Amino acid sequence: MSLTENVPASGAVWASILDRVLSTDPKQRLRITRSLMSALVFVVCVGLIVYCSIIGIMNPAHGWVLASFIAVSCTGFYAALRSGWNERFSDPALTLPQILAALTWICGAYAITNEGHGGTLILFALVLVFGIFNMNARRARLSTLYAVTAMGATMVFKAMTDPLHYPYKVELMYFVFVATVMPMISQLATQLNSMRGRLKAQKSELEAAVERIQELATRDELTGLFNRRQITQVLGEHAARSNRGVVKFWVSVLDLDHFKQVNDTWGHHVGDEVLRSFAQMAASVLRETDVIGRWGGEEFLAVMLSVPPHDPHAGLERLRAKLADAQVSETVPHLRITFSAGLAAYTEHSEVKQAIERADKALYQAKADGRNRTVMAPELKPD
Ligand code: GH3
Ligand code: MG
Ligand code: MG
Repeated sequence: MSLTENVPASGAVWASILDRVLSTDPKQRLRITRSLMSALVFVVCVGLIVYCSIIGIMNPAHGWVLASFIAVSCTGFYAALRSGWNERFSDPALTLPQILAALTWICGAYAITNEGHGGTLILFALVLVFGIFNMNARRARLSTLYAVTAMGATMVFKAMTDPLHYPYKVELMYFVFVATVMPMISQLATQLNSMRGRLKAQKSELEAAVERIQELATRDELTGLFNRRQITQVLGEHAARSNRGVVKFWVSVLDLDHFKQVNDTWGHHVGDEVLRSFAQMAASVLRETDVIGRWGGEEFLAVMLSVPPHDPHAGLERLRAKLADAQVSETVPHLRITFSAGLAAYTEHSEVKQAIERADKALYQAKADGRNRTVMAPELKPD
């Protein structure tokens, strides 16, 4: 097998390993990735524990105990996240427990690193930075309180039991450092998190607005059908496909009969009811592959794909039959309406406009012949 053939295969293997380790659910994957990132920091810490033992500033037995606690806690959090057990909690990322555990291990590291203990303080800050992603005000307060108290207690304990490595004057300085920096970081984390929340809310508002704008741009407000612009676009797409020999389609212009009388007799709002009922019925009676839109006023334009060549009127006549005894207005239940239609087959490589004009002409004929009927436009003669 060549090397290039190998690339996609190994890529797929790598992706499937990642799916197994990190889960395929994007939210869980993010939580697990963050947890493993913090575990990586601890792997480095365990390396440093080994180093400190080797250079003799730490009792190796203490190092082993701490490293074992860290390993158990990281494995435990990974298992909790990967098994999905975390999802039953209000904080499914297990942010607070992970932060509290990490702070505890850092206090442990502080207590056993003797001369090197000052360096562990930087890890304290790092832990809260991890919390930025999920730190609400309550969690931030709790972790800060825990950090300052646990570290304070560790410092007092060490200053009393090992004043040689932990002189109380230096410990006091470190404590002031912890007690000022930690609340500051946690405050910033809270602010960042609430900013994230606001951005999220704005994003979903924006998505809803775009959807609404799209709807307004493509739909007719009264009937909910495609508007003239959208149905024109559909026509263009069908013509392009037809010109590639993929589909054949028909264009029909439908016009309600004596609609002005409806308005004049029953009022404009009854006219609107009728337009809505007609639109709803036409959309449901025509086939799924057919598209109907409001062309303007009481005129509609249908683009029909599934017209049987031997009986092109079929869909329109189905609609006509259904409409004949359908109630189209709640205000005037006995009101019945009819429509006239012109139907034209689109001829490949001709102008769409031409097909509409031919259907329009046929509609005119249908009106002249007495309405409530469909007239088929003659085939377009080749030049
Ligand atoms: P014909 O059978 O020849 O088509 O006669 P008609 O009365 O249907 O046609 P005409 O073009 O004379 O009248 C169309 C009417 O449609 C006039 C207009 O007030 C009404 N109309 C157009 N748009 C709307 C609308 O959105 N709501 C209502 N209620 N009426 C509308
Ligand atoms: Mg009209
Ligand atoms: Mg009309």
